[in-house]
Amino acid sequence: MTEIVRKVSDLRASVARWHGAGDTVGLVPTMGALHAGHLSLVRAAQADCARVIATIFVNPKQFNNPTDLAKYPRTEPADLALLQQAGVDVLFAPPPEEVYPLGFATTVSVAGVAGPLEGASRPGHFDGVATVVAKLFGMSRADRAYFGQKDWQQLQVVRRMVADLNLPITVIGCETLREGDGLAMSSRNTRLSPRARAIAPALYAAMTRAASDLRAGKTGALKTCAATVLAAGFDSIDYIDLRDADSLEPLTAPTSTARLLAAAWLDGVRLIDNIPV
Ligand code: AMP
Repeated sequence: MTEIVRKVSDLRASVARWHGAGDTVGLVPTMGALHAGHLSLVRAAQADCARVIATIFVNPKQFNNPTDLAKYPRTEPADLALLQQAGVDVLFAPPPEEVYPLGFATTVSVAGVAGPLEGASRPGHFDGVATVVAKLFGMSRADRAYFGQKDWQQLQVVRRMVADLNLPITVIGCETLREGDGLAMSSRNTRLSPRARAIAPALYAAMTRAASDLRAGKTGALKTCAATVLAAGFDSIDYIDLRDADSLEPLTAPTSTARLLAAAWLDGVRLIDNIPV
């Protein structure tokens, strides 16, 4: 039976009880509208930890676009049913005022790795992410936290923050789950029209081709990739870039730790993806 918890004090009480019994506690932070990708993080957490907390909090601080925040899908009853089925111990779904009470005045800001790509396209986004993730770690006192590689840069930002602030938690990055046609699962996919949904897999397909072109040393692989994505029907591209997987510094040619990262707009929805090269 998954218990719904809204208050930090109640979450703390459960975790203290579990820790008292010697149980390891895993945390799976989400913004809800759960899909199989989220559930794969839950399964990874359950494989390592005796107790698992999933969190659902649509964090206003990480949305630089108010329309995106307003349109973000909210499906708590369906999410709870999925978490019940998966056997999650606690769903922590606090109201905004529990996370950001009156007088809240602290921002966690990660430099370097948070700067380019999503950081450049969405000013303030990673400050919001780092702040809420630091809070979720502090509120829960979990031992391990599970994040998707789907949000590759976010994973690196969280890793940097945990190392820099000596936070007592282990961060685990889990593989991206995809639909049968290659589209990375995302809560935002539900906002695509049927026509756009048919176009959307072109991003991953073009990226996969570009990765193989890059490995083969072909010139112009990134330009070809962008042209292919636009020709498939995407409206615009924020970036398609080859970067070092850990530092996110730009690369001109593949290395043993190269990653291709992309963000593009389709039907008013911003899709992101990334793959190793
Ligand atoms: P979100 O609810 O979109 O903020 O995502 C919550 C967590 O689920 C993040 O760590 C994401 O990286 C992860 N996630 C989202 N989509 C996927 C996916 N397709 N595969 C694996 N993890 C994912």
